[in-house]
Amino acid sequence: MKGFAMLKIGSVGWIEKDRPKCGPMDAICRPLALAPCTSDVHTVWEGAVGERHNMILGHEGTGEIVEVGELVKDFKPGDKVIVPAITPDWNSLEAQGGYSMHSHGMLNGWKFSNVKDGLFGEFFHVNDPDGNLALLPENIDLKVAPMLSDMVPTGFHGAELADVQYGDEVLVIGIGPVGLMAVAGANLRGASRIYAVGTRPVCIEAAKFYGATDFIDYKGGTISEQALRLTKGRGVDKVIIAGGTVDTFAEAVKSLKAGGRIGNVNYLGSGATIDIPRVEWGVGMGHKAINGGLMPGGRLRMEKLSRLVSVGKLDLSPLITHPFKGFEHIEEALYLMKEKPKDLIKPVVLL
Ligand code: NDP
Ligand code: ZN
Repeated sequence: MKGFAMLKIGSVGWIEKDRPKCGPMDAICRPLALAPCTSDVHTVWEGAVGERHNMILGHEGTGEIVEVGELVKDFKPGDKVIVPAITPDWNSLEAQGGYSMHSHGMLNGWKFSNVKDGLFGEFFHVNDPDGNLALLPENIDLKVAPMLSDMVPTGFHGAELADVQYGDEVLVIGIGPVGLMAVAGANLRGASRIYAVGTRPVCIEAAKFYGATDFIDYKGGTISEQALRLTKGRGVDKVIIAGGTVDTFAEAVKSLKAGGRIGNVNYLGSGATIDIPRVEWGVGMGHKAINGGLMPGGRLRMEKLSRLVSVGKLDLSPLITHPFKGFEHIEEALYLMKEKPKDLIKPVVLL
């Protein structure tokens, strides 16, 4: 079969591979709609997960099941499914402890385009479909459905990690597709003012749509000075980080009230340490919590998040700025994610 792969760090291309084999607890799917992720860019061009040779990329998409193993109970060939980016081993001790995304080791619930071939092939393999897949509701447009694999669960996890409560003033740093879903998640959880940090007009318009009330340009001054000015010196209740660098944490801590909480879902690709400003962290006693996490996967969560879309409480269409038709456009879509032209939020490829 054909697949679009990372050939080695810094290089991608089309390759031929054997079709994956289906074990007793597995499913094999063919993709219906696919999206590249900023994490694919980190993987290929920054070597984020280390060297990989001829590994098929992709962890965002929907598919049709073509084969299931004899122990799979709830899915069958022909089912159209949402495929989460994170597909944990649900019988691991880490999953039993509540951290399925770290099943069998830190971040190891992330398998596609990390430790095995991803979705950008003519067929792909899913471990434990009963635990990991969700049926795609019929009224969800295939064009937006891949956003349920990663952008929605990751952005919403940012709002969970920051523990957004009714009336909270929330600072969302980064309003790419992940940050936009963090805005939407914070809004659904009852945030009052949402201060969104970003510069690209297309993202600012989408952030308004998802509930952002105020905007901060990180290129036009420090984030914390602007956040403190907008809150008349109070600071915000919660911060969600979905963009920036290791230095962004200092800005988040400075922007936060005592007792506030930071939820980070941004991938930190460089820098050995993160500096926490001592005084603004209450000289160690400010009750400012820093939480960071990989998105949780799982069928239950995927079913719940997709219900928000199918009942009309979450509209994903503003995220899709560059739709394509045809498998061959995966390459162009990935390069769009790498180059991030001003009018891009997210490309999607329909097959
Ligand atoms: P984008 O690159 O599309 O968006 C990044 C955002 O951050 C933009 O709004 C950008 O602003 C802003 N930004 C860039 N630099 C800074 C800075 N110095 N200070 C403040 N804001 C800045 O990324 P995505 O939304 O696709 O992904 C965001 C992150 O989430 C990535 O690191 C990705 O790897 C990670 N991720 C994490 C997952 C998880 O499970 N935890 C899963 C999926 C992705 P501008 O408008 O100027 O472009
Ligand atoms: Zn991703």
